[in-house]
Amino acid sequence: MERKQFKTEVSQLLHLIIHSLYSNREIFLRELISNASDALDKLKYQLLTSGNEIEGGLKIELGFTEGDKRTLTISDNGIGMSHDDLNEDLGTIARSGTRKFLENLTEEQKKDSNLIGQFGVGFYSVFMVASKVEVVTRKYGEDQAWKWASDGVEKYTIEEAERPEQGTTITIYLNEDGSQFANRWDLERLVKKYSNHVAYPIFLSYDQNTYNDKYEVTGKEHKREQINSASALWTRSKSELTDKDYNEFYKSSTGDSDDPLFYVHTKAEGANEYTTLFFVPAQAPFDMYHADYKPGVKLYVKRVFITDDDKELLPTYLRFVRGIIDSEDLPLNVSREILQQNRVMSNIRTPSVKKLLSEFKKIAESNPELYKKFIDNYNRPLKEGLYSDFANKSELAELVRFKSTSVEGYTSLAQYKERMGSDQKSIYYLTGSTENTLRNSPLLGKYKQKGIEVLLMDDDIDDLVMTSLGQYQDVPLKAVNKSDSADELSSDEEKKEAPDLVARFKQALGDLVKDVKVSNRLTDASAAVVADADEMSIQMQQIMRMMDHTKEAPQIKPILEINIDDPVVKKIQNSEDQSFVTDACRVLLDQALLAEGLMPSDPADFSRRLHNLLA
Ligand code: ADP
Ligand code: MG
Repeated sequence: MERKQFKTEVSQLLHLIIHSLYSNREIFLRELISNASDALDKLKYQLLTSGNEIEGGLKIELGFTEGDKRTLTISDNGIGMSHDDLNEDLGTIARSGTRKFLENLTEEQKKDSNLIGQFGVGFYSVFMVASKVEVVTRKYGEDQAWKWASDGVEKYTIEEAERPEQGTTITIYLNEDGSQFANRWDLERLVKKYSNHVAYPIFLSYDQNTYNDKYEVTGKEHKREQINSASALWTRSKSELTDKDYNEFYKSSTGDSDDPLFYVHTKAEGANEYTTLFFVPAQAPFDMYHADYKPGVKLYVKRVFITDDDKELLPTYLRFVRGIIDSEDLPLNVSREILQQNRVMSNIRTPSVKKLLSEFKKIAESNPELYKKFIDNYNRPLKEGLYSDFANKSELAELVRFKSTSVEGYTSLAQYKERMGSDQKSIYYLTGSTENTLRNSPLLGKYKQKGIEVLLMDDDIDDLVMTSLGQYQDVPLKAVNKSDSADELSSDEEKKEAPDLVARFKQALGDLVKDVKVSNRLTDASAAVVADADEMSIQMQQIMRMMDHTKEAPQIKPILEINIDDPVVKKIQNSEDQSFVTDACRVLLDQALLAEGLMPSDPADFSRRLHNLLA
């Protein structure tokens, strides 16, 4: 028997694992099964090239013993290891991704057991649950088998052994922490959780009591059953799958009782090899607007489940998408930080986003009814994308939909542009709190009169989105509730001035307003409030104030536009009664705020002045 010392790096790793992964012990099984699966892959490849076959097929077997000396065995009939392989692979970590992983961990990260546990550390994780481990293995094509054994402290031994066929059997002598795993239910649960889609069947053997008709135990019966599904739906080709297959898979993996709206299944080959299968749920996830929403995409590496808790797999605005990403190139033991900077990961993410957006577009063009359902649920997240995903801005601008003064239901920016008159220079929109207030806004007067379409935006983020978008295909986007947007509505001759009247209003309103202007666009109303061209809309300012309770609320100072053809305004112009003028000016300002769904700054003052006027 040879006795050997682990390389120092292995000792360090063992120490790290045992002390930091405490709460994540169960991942040891995932690691061992994934190694078995790799070994089966390697043999399968050799068989392909040689044309040989393995009797009984390639498989993984799990077994356990209960009682005082609890053990667990994991066995595969894969490629196996030679004497040298054992020294190389289990005596050093030179060959595995584990070393890189270790080198990249900061001291802080080493303390974060979740971080390490999520991505795994390979074979050595077995020492979290083992007081001793034996590996009996025989390499395919060799006659001699070998037994490797270690208690995971400093040394391991290698000696000759017997094994009837190629493959590896790992026997774990469970320590106190590991003894809980020596039962059928935990093993089944762990296999289903992490290894359900591993390509080879995983069989679990166990003894079951037999009973007589008085329910007395009469003996034990040996059972063996397959406990994983052994097929990852996403690895099958699209042509052999039906809508029903996809929908069933979606429902069983998400727990949703409805079919998804649609799915997108992509296999990428080339520099990076991966498969993605994405679903869009029929109903927006209930936590879509919670800061601590649960991400819907699971990451697999070669069919082995890695995480369902990584919010970086897709951009935040696509958080309603469900499904899987399965990479052939990522190492199992990649940390979350490394994953984020990983070139492989971004080579999956970027095209996945493009693919999803182009699929949305296809549906918009080919199936308006389906697209409407999609928009009913996901218009707002797409708008978030418009200001957060710079690279896909123009694609997203084609996908979002708005209400409008000219059409029923939703319209796209493209459709608006098509309807634009030849002399119209801008796309107009009005933001506000409800569709009803928007439709009745006095600011729309002139637009209605001239038959100019205005998009009506009642989402609280519309203001931000439209400002950051700025233009659509070279056509500027203009907010109707900003002071500059009316300029194009009237020719210079039509523009009116009334300096004395404006001065009167300014005096009455003082610093309640930023400015007073003669309006070129009001038809029925006496006055309206707007914001300066370079400022946030007044609606947006009010939302910001409501959201940010902590900050001293900035005074909302609107610009008041007055309609000099309006009888009330004329009355103000001609009145000698100073208190009437002040009351009327103040009431007109507050009225204008109310018409936009905004609160007057002092409601009691408003009702007192209104009362004066009525009296
Ligand atoms: P990794 O899987 O990232 O390479 P591990 O620590 O999990 O790292 O495993 C180390 C190495 O041990 C593997 O690369 C493989 O060569 C060898 N090995 C482990 N388990 C088996 C097995 N069941 N059959 C054959 N080789 C194995
Ligand atoms: Mg491994």
